[in-house]
Amino acid sequence: MPGPGEFELIREYFSSRFQTGARPGSAANTVVLGIGDDCALLNPPAGKTLATSVDTLVADVHFPANADPYRIASRALRVNLSDLAAMNAEPLWFTLALTLPQSDPQWLAPFARGLAETADLYGVTLVGGDTTKGPLSITIQVTGACEKPLRRDGARAGDTVFVSNQLGAAAAALPIALGEMVGTAEQRQQMEAAYYFPEPQFAVARAIGNYASAALDISDGLLADLSHICEASKLGAELELEELPVAGLAQSMNAECNTESALETALTGGDDYQLCFTVPEQHLDTVDKLNLPITAIGRMSAEPGIRCRLHGNPWQPRGSGYRHF
Ligand code: ADP
Ligand code: MG
Repeated sequence: MPGPGEFELIREYFSSRFQTGARPGSAANTVVLGIGDDCALLNPPAGKTLATSVDTLVADVHFPANADPYRIASRALRVNLSDLAAMNAEPLWFTLALTLPQSDPQWLAPFARGLAETADLYGVTLVGGDTTKGPLSITIQVTGACEKPLRRDGARAGDTVFVSNQLGAAAAALPIALGEMVGTAEQRQQMEAAYYFPEPQFAVARAIGNYASAALDISDGLLADLSHICEASKLGAELELEELPVAGLAQSMNAECNTESALETALTGGDDYQLCFTVPEQHLDTVDKLNLPITAIGRMSAEPGIRCRLHGNPWQPRGSGYRHF
C-alpha cells in the first residue's frame, strides 16, 4: 500500500502535532502563523536578540540509516538545540527539511512522535519545513532568543577552562550504535543516552551566562572545539588532563587498552554536546558556589595552540577531532 502523499504526510505527521497557539516555555504566543502557508509568521520576544543555527544529519554519516526513527528524531533535534544552549539562547522555533526515500507511515509515525516529544521537553515548536524524496537526510534549523549571548571570541589569557558533565561517552558508544559491537546491557543503555538522547546544556548555560567570557558546545571533540575558542579569542590553552571528566563508558570501552586511550576518546571523540566555556578569575568563586556539574580543566594562555599535560608531563593525543573533509 502506498504511503500518504506529500500534503497528507505534512498534515498527518507535522501540522496536526505542532499547531499555532500557546506553547510551553519561551515559545508561548510567539507564533502568529505556523505550518501551512508560504512562510511562518513569528513574533520575536521584545528586546532580545535572535540566535539561529542549522544542522543536517545524513543517514549513515550522522546516524545508522536503519536506526529507530523515534531516536533519530530525538538526536536530530537535540544536537541542533545544543547550538542554542551554547549561545545561552532560549529555544523558540524550528523548521524541518526532510528528505525521505519513501513515504512510509511505519517510519514517519515514530519519527514524528520523537520530534514532538523532544520539542515539548525543550519548549520549542515546529513552524515549517520542506519535504522531498531522496536519500534519508534531516535538516533542522533552530531559532532562539538571547539576552546575553555567549560567543567564542570573548576569552582572555588567564581565564579558567571548564567543561560540563563528562566527555567521551558518545564517541565510545559509536561501535555499539553502529552494531559493530554488542556491549554489556549497561554499556548499551549508556550508548542510548549518549548517542540518541544527548542533553543540550541549557541549565548550565543559563547559570554561567553572566560569568563566562566564551562558550561553545563540543560536537567535534574537546581539542577541536576548544581550538575554535582559542582562534576566535586569539589565544592558546593549557590543559591538565588528570582533571578531565572522562565518561564511564569511555573508560569501560577502553578497559582492555589503558587509561590513555580513554583520555584520547574524551579529548578527540565527537558528539558529546557538552559545553566548554571560560571564566575570568574574578567570577571563579561565584561559579564555584553555583554547584553545577562542571569541571575546571585548564587555563587560557597568550601562547597560541593547546598544550596538554598529564601529571605534569607533556601529553600529545594521536588524533584531534572529527573533520568531514
Ligand atoms: P511551498 O511550496 O510554498 O514551499 P510546501 O508545499 O513545501 O510549500 O509546504 C507547505 C507547508 O508545509 C509550508 O508551510 C511548509 O513550511 C510546511 N512543511 C512542508 N514540509 C514540512 C515538514 N517536513 N515539516 C514541517 N512543515 C513542513
Ligand atoms: Mg517548499
